[in-house]
Amino acid sequence: MSSSTTRRRARTGGKRPLSALLALVNPVALYRKRPNRPDDPPPEALIGKGVRFVNRIYLLRAIGLGIGFFCVSAGFVQNPVSWPLWALLVFHGFAWPHLARHWALRSKIPYRAERRNLVIDAGFGGFWIAAMDGNLVPSAVILSMISMDNIAAGGVRLFMRGVYASVAGFLLGWLVLDYRFMPQSDIVTIVACLPMLALYPLVLGKSTYDMSKKLAERSREFEIVSQIDGLTRLFNRRYWESLLIEEFEQCRRGGHGACLLLLDLDHFKNINDTHGHLVGDEVLRNFSQLLRASLREDDLIGRYGGEEFVAILRHTSAADALLLSQRLVEQARSKQSGGDSLWGCTVSAGLVPFTPDMDAHYVWLQRADQAMYCAKGKGRDCLVAWDAGLHRAHGKTAADVQTA
Ligand code: GH3
Ligand code: MG
Ligand code: MG
Repeated sequence: MSSSTTRRRARTGGKRPLSALLALVNPVALYRKRPNRPDDPPPEALIGKGVRFVNRIYLLRAIGLGIGFFCVSAGFVQNPVSWPLWALLVFHGFAWPHLARHWALRSKIPYRAERRNLVIDAGFGGFWIAAMDGNLVPSAVILSMISMDNIAAGGVRLFMRGVYASVAGFLLGWLVLDYRFMPQSDIVTIVACLPMLALYPLVLGKSTYDMSKKLAERSREFEIVSQIDGLTRLFNRRYWESLLIEEFEQCRRGGHGACLLLLDLDHFKNINDTHGHLVGDEVLRNFSQLLRASLREDDLIGRYGGEEFVAILRHTSAADALLLSQRLVEQARSKQSGGDSLWGCTVSAGLVPFTPDMDAHYVWLQRADQAMYCAKGKGRDCLVAWDAGLHRAHGKTAADVQTA
């Protein structure tokens, strides 16, 4: 099965397109509880969900039914009806929005209760059409507003439920009222429908726009969270590696030179063991701060692991990178007191300028690792720049890293 078919099946609850379509037109299937999908949250996770949805629909319903009242009233004036229908219309126009909100908010799952309220709205719509003897203009306006609401709030499934509820409401009206088919709309009725036609789509459009703006902000926040390490606010390993791949490709295409710097705090475990993890965290934060302050905006700094840091020094020659990295190691050594202290920690670093003989980005990383471990071997608190001699000494190949 192709991956797109699998994705489509997952969306339609594992059904084939034809059976998914049939489920949408079959009222029994529409109103029956949908079978759980593997990615559905557990029922207890839904409790209390949807308060914002309820409040958003409350505002739309209060405005929509408030304006809609005049639409149906005009139909009632044109084809007079008895007072209980007027009373029901006043209730629906002005009391129901508050009652519906109250009811939904008091339910265990407000989101579900609000969807039920939307279906009730559709049922009312069908009933008003019968009560107005099918007066064409207000009937069409009511139906289109209900459809717009339902498809915007719950997609095709809620829309279809609304269609059946409207049909049921209409049939009920037909049965209990003295229904006669009188579709002509007089000019007063048409004019009374204009505010609904002009205003309600604006209100719904604004509400949908506000919601999509919030969603865009939320997705930007998620994107940042997925790229940043929570403790140090540097790029996390996964995202940083994607930047390394990009940088590697650019260097390979001959765009510019760059150097890779790998830094590891020395005997960091001792800090945790002696002063506790909170101080350990503070040292990691202070070191990240030092990196940010010493490197340029353009350089891509990441936290590679626990106390290992990486930086891509972009547009930097090997000689400049060597000077800069050496200064960094010295600065770390000198930060032994004060608010930004490293609590006695020093740093070992490995530096590798990009060279075209590297087959892939992980070769660059592997070389930085070799250079850094060489610095550890030299007694720590120093910088080692990679060269081919180091490679021979470690005897590893790129293939070793790839399969590791
Ligand atoms: P070396 O000089 O050989 O690098 O020794 P080291 O002690 O720095 O390295 P080692 O790998 O033995 O220990 C690293 C420690 O870093 C172990 C782990 O508990 C600690 N660590 C990793 N992530 C965090 C963190 O987020 N916060 C704190 N406080 N400690 C961390
Ligand atoms: Mg270490
Ligand atoms: Mg380490």
